[in-house]
Amino acid sequence: MATGLVALVGVGPGDPGLLTLRAVKALSLADCVVYDALVHPRVLLHARPEAERLFVGKRRGVDSATQDEINHLLLYRARQGLRVARLKGGDPYLFGRGAEEALFLAHHGVPFEVVPGVTSALGAAAYAGLALSHRELSSRVTFLTGTGQHGEDVSLQGLGTEGTLVLYMGMHHLERTLEGLVARGWAPETPAAAVQWATWARQRTVSGTLSTLSLRCAEESLGTPALVVLGSVVSLRQSLRWWDRGPLQGRTVLVTRARDQADALVEGLLDRGAEPLELPLLAFEAPSSPDAVERALDALSAGSYGLVAFTSANGVGWFFRALRHRGLDARGLRGALVACVGQGTASALQTHGIIADLVAREARAEGLLAALAGWDRVKLQGLSVLLPRAEVAAEALAGGLVALGALADSVAFYRTVRDPSADPTELRQRLAEGTLDAVTFTSGSTVDALCDLLGDAPESLRRTAVAVLGPVTAKAARARGLEVAVQAPEATVESLLDALGAHFKNPLP
Ligand code: SAH
Repeated sequence: MATGLVALVGVGPGDPGLLTLRAVKALSLADCVVYDALVHPRVLLHARPEAERLFVGKRRGVDSATQDEINHLLLYRARQGLRVARLKGGDPYLFGRGAEEALFLAHHGVPFEVVPGVTSALGAAAYAGLALSHRELSSRVTFLTGTGQHGEDVSLQGLGTEGTLVLYMGMHHLERTLEGLVARGWAPETPAAAVQWATWARQRTVSGTLSTLSLRCAEESLGTPALVVLGSVVSLRQSLRWWDRGPLQGRTVLVTRARDQADALVEGLLDRGAEPLELPLLAFEAPSSPDAVERALDALSAGSYGLVAFTSANGVGWFFRALRHRGLDARGLRGALVACVGQGTASALQTHGIIADLVAREARAEGLLAALAGWDRVKLQGLSVLLPRAEVAAEALAGGLVALGALADSVAFYRTVRDPSADPTELRQRLAEGTLDAVTFTSGSTVDALCDLLGDAPESLRRTAVAVLGPVTAKAARARGLEVAVQAPEATVESLLDALGAHFKNPLP
């Protein structure tokens, strides 16, 4: 069998947005992904679902695999003819043993490639406002590791006293290293900062001087992973910081949406500096009576419907899935007009090549009904309307249309079920610690699913802000005794994110 290939892929310091296109490509081609503890979970989403995922990092401070075991794992998988993506935090060739792994592969004749990544010094520099160079302040940057091969202290031999110094793996011996620098002629009042979890939502920065930083870090209980940046450029931080002023920076927010619907909310939270805690409570399945779908599609093919009205992006997805099943695309709509509620549904239609003829602004059935009633392109009297929707959905729209003389055909194209794999362990732990800032609900069914799963809401949610997408969801939350702290003015994810940002407007210290 042909030998496979190992890609040593730098995935950056944390923020999954810092992956390179080449890293994404290597991940999407991989049969096997080997990764460490500092890799953001969302990075792994770029791998194929069926790809093997092997964790080889530290768990609770203990290595789950030795370097030798990792080397041999890469070798075995490659010799099985597989493509392996070996993910490394930051850049593979900077203090990450990437060179050791590459040399081992080279020695055994295994083809490999290396994808550079944003090293954590550059991530910390950008996200904590610590420009590494500046024409007037620093024209030399030194990257230093604080821990040598056998865990001994860093050697400061031959180190100058100018420019910017970035210390990797330096927290354990920080005090001694800083004293060593002073002994070598660095001014004790040189500005210094330690950045923990650079580019993650939980990024924290402690500032001081060469003589105070170690104590300040202890006072603030700043742990690892962290980098230390030393030099006069550190004084620019107050003007240059931006990430830790993000509207939701450092907040942890629960996302309860079904996995295939959650991306926009999760990405929006990440962009604003929040840490999404994903607990998909719902999943979608084919409807219990597929015959009704088949009949509706027969009628559609026969040109019997004058209008198809969509009330959710999900409905759009399942409708086109059913069409595709018959070997049809958007042309399967024949000449029917298309109406929908809300921008989200309109965008979903566009991904299938359909520009809706009518988009009701108010994202509720009543809004669509009113818009249809006042629309001059149709006469509702006698019009055949197909309403693709979820099983067990409110029938207000169908009822309203019938009352206006239309022939409404409300057909379930999918059904919503509780996701049986939802595991509330981490959520419970965070609620108990009081470290969950907000929960988000985008539908009444997510409210019910979470309350049923927890069993002790609203009591367990009393320290957490409840944020909802629209009035219908707000009502469902109140019906379960929850106090709604944040309600999006418009029923869109953007609006929910903005409302959350406004709610937590006080920047963290
Ligand atoms: N190859 C990696 C470095 C690996 S050594 C890179 O290019 O970044 C591990 C050290 O990197 C940690 O001890 C810490 O000093 C630093 N580090 C890695 N990720 C970090 C992060 N998100 N924030 C701060 N420091 C980080």
